[in-house]
Amino acid sequence: MSYFSVAVDGPAGAGKSTLARAAAERLGFVYVDTGAIYRTVGLAVKRAGIDRQDASAVAALLPGLSISIRYADGVQHMLLDGEDVSGLIRTPEMSEYASSVSALPAVRAFLMEMQRQMAREHDVIMDGRDIGTVVLPDAGLKVFLTASPEKRAMRRFKELTEKGTAVTYEEVLADMNARDEKDTTRAAAPLRAAEDAVLLDTSDLTLEESVDALEGLIRQRMKEGQA
Ligand code: C5P
Repeated sequence: MSYFSVAVDGPAGAGKSTLARAAAERLGFVYVDTGAIYRTVGLAVKRAGIDRQDASAVAALLPGLSISIRYADGVQHMLLDGEDVSGLIRTPEMSEYASSVSALPAVRAFLMEMQRQMAREHDVIMDGRDIGTVVLPDAGLKVFLTASPEKRAMRRFKELTEKGTAVTYEEVLADMNARDEKDTTRAAAPLRAAEDAVLLDTSDLTLEESVDALEGLIRQRMKEGQA
């Protein structure tokens, strides 16, 4: 039996995870948040006391890492050496660690198989930066999700302040622009839209409208596939 995969790529704060999760729930697909996997590697690097830009030290750590994904009630949990670290990886510091380690080709290669395996075993909506271009080049649908930097920063600012993190909007916007710059200019799997990706700009859409749009694209493509 073959499964349908949807690749959702885009810059930080475009709403990838919120939209992909909601659309997956409506369609009965498994939602795979690949950023969480990179964040988990980042946490492991921090715990090991390694300089996150030291490519050979990080590469040496990889074979000994035990990272796995577990689903509970449809929610993705990240396990590091058996410990559920899903909450610990959601900090601005871990965003930075993830961004640094994800620029290392050894890290990307190490995580590739884990991501492809998910798509071989389930209908998935997988979000990240290189899903349509590198991880799932044959995905049934590729969506490049974007929104203006100001809209994205405002959404991320609200999310962080609601969780009680003390940040200013200006800090969030500056961090986001720096991370976008790093993600789009790195040599290894830079953030870019696949040539056959459908562009979805959510700047002027509400959350509900954005989920409807994503769900609509998926249903339409699946119907075309059956025709
Ligand atoms: O999506 P999220 O913000 O959790 O991702 C954290 C970081 O992990 C990104 O800034 C990016 O550098 C990296 N990442 C990546 N490839 C992916 C997913 C995330 O390089 N597929």
